[in-house]
Amino acid sequence: MPSDTTNLNDNSMSWSTEDRKSSLGQCIASSQHILALLGAGLSASSGLQTFTGNGTLWRTYQTKSMATKSAFAWNPVLVWQFYEDRRQKAIAAPPNPGHFALAKLAESKEHFFAISQNIDGLSERAGHDLSKLAPIHGSLLTTTCAQPGCSFVSWNGSALPTVPALSLPPGDITDAAVELPDVRIDDLPLCPKCKYGLQRPGVVWFGEQLPQEHLTRTDEWLESVPSVDLLLVVGTSARVFPAAEYIHRARAKGASVAFFNLEQDDDLIEAGDWFVPGDVATTLPRIVAEALDLPQAAANTL
Ligand SMILES: [Zn+2]
Repeated sequence: MPSDTTNLNDNSMSWSTEDRKSSLGQCIASSQHILALLGAGLSASSGLQTFTGNGTLWRTYQTKSMATKSAFAWNPVLVWQFYEDRRQKAIAAPPNPGHFALAKLAESKEHFFAISQNIDGLSERAGHDLSKLAPIHGSLLTTTCAQPGCSFVSWNGSALPTVPALSLPPGDITDAAVELPDVRIDDLPLCPKCKYGLQRPGVVWFGEQLPQEHLTRTDEWLESVPSVDLLLVVGTSARVFPAAEYIHRARAKGASVAFFNLEQDDDLIEAGDWFVPGDVATTLPRIVAEALDLPQAAANTL
């Protein structure tokens, strides 16, 4: 019996001795239409922390202030160097078993769809089927165009540097003592589509709208399924828009909800839900392996 999985509707944690599956494992196994909502906690054990927490500094700047359109207008070179630093760290980080477990679920379940609030590209690098992934905050692996109205999007993948001028010096440039190379605006990548705007990191900045393309894809998935059998909330407090809204919409289509998080949020959890505490890189692969009848030894190598 798993000692760390709580079904709030059944504190005996119903456990079939015949098939050795927990109630959540059984639910994943039998569910056809599964929605997942992914947040920063999924990538924590890959060594990536949230960069934009209040009060954190990048060199002498408030980190949060670098993730804005006004910062890019003020100093596009510095903002590009900030994002090249983030790209370099994200690309150096390995996807963890939690990312691979979700990629495996996407592969195994025809009607699986994940909404990701992460920009680190780790789900993509774990092989998560891109047609079943909506990165609603964008991705560090892409660039777009800073010119309003230009629809340019480029998949850069893990290539570093984005352009030669953005090569970073040795050392951690978060530290202002590490000198940044001189880069001219003309050395930054220009948009090949409109040939006017600068390319910019393909992420959503504070104050910007979420990309309509991914919101529409999510809406279409929700409308295409007769019901949502299960919603997996993974590594996110799901308190901010639109994450909280998706919990509501999934419940309206009949979903039970399984929360994989470090801490339980009593305001979001309802009777019949599951709460699985702990590092999702450990808990999620174990339950996915159980649901898909994979050996538990495979949980770390899904
Ligand atoms: Zn453009």
